[in-house]
Amino acid sequence: MNLITCKLCGRLFSSARGKICIACLEEVDGMYPKVREYLRDHSQESFNLERISEDMNFDIRYVQALVELGYLDRALPGETPDEEEKKRKQLLLNELQASLNSSPMGRGDKTAGKMYGQQRYGTDRKSNS
Ligand SMILES: [Zn+2]
Repeated sequence: MNLITCKLCGRLFSSARGKICIACLEEVDGMYPKVREYLRDHSQESFNLERISEDMNFDIRYVQALVELGYLDRALPGETPDEEEKKRKQLLLNELQASLNSSPMGRGDKTAGKMYGQQRYGTDRKSNS
């Protein structure tokens, strides 16, 4: 059995899948629908992790984990994402991953908040009503 330290909560756990323990995975799991809703409600804006974590009161490391684990690639149960939606999520993902690169992971501090990307996409996307 391979024990590693969860990179979110720092507990030791047996690493069956990834670097995050079950408890934290559940946490992220529970965050996902809310984050997704948030992203949908703010679809005209540009995102970064700091902003999402601040607006939603989530620990930024969990938001990072959510992105890293590929949650944003998923559809919620019962949903069929259309092409438009997929494209939008891909853009979000790019944006979020860019901000991942600029915010050091796993240091447990909040000093990464200085980069607030305000760049906007040049794409024409419509929010479906
Ligand atoms: Zn954990």
